[in-house]
Amino acid sequence: MRRIPLESDLPVISMFSDRDNTYQAIHRERVRAHAKHVEKGLSMEIERPDSPRWLPVLVEEVGEVARALNDNESLGNLRKELIQCAAMCVAWVEALDL
Ligand SMILES: [Mg+2]
Repeated sequence: MRRIPLESDLPVISMFSDRDNTYQAIHRERVRAHAKHVEKGLSMEIERPDSPRWLPVLVEEVGEVARALNDNESLGNLRKELIQCAAMCVAWVEALDL
């Protein structure tokens, strides 16, 4: 089982603070989702990169972005859904890289 990513694991990616905020939001979402799902064994942070679970979970998140647009939800909610999509993509890429 892989360990839970920590804030201190975040690389310094950009000199631009807005981008840092975005990557930090993605990382916080991964930590939040892991804490929510780990006890049921459903955290994607412990999933193998070839697991058939990745795509349906990612597509569900993309669907939530589509719903936010279709329902004219707030830009804040659209951002939240996009961060959740990004978190899933980053987690999957990192699972491949380990
Ligand atoms: Mg979502």
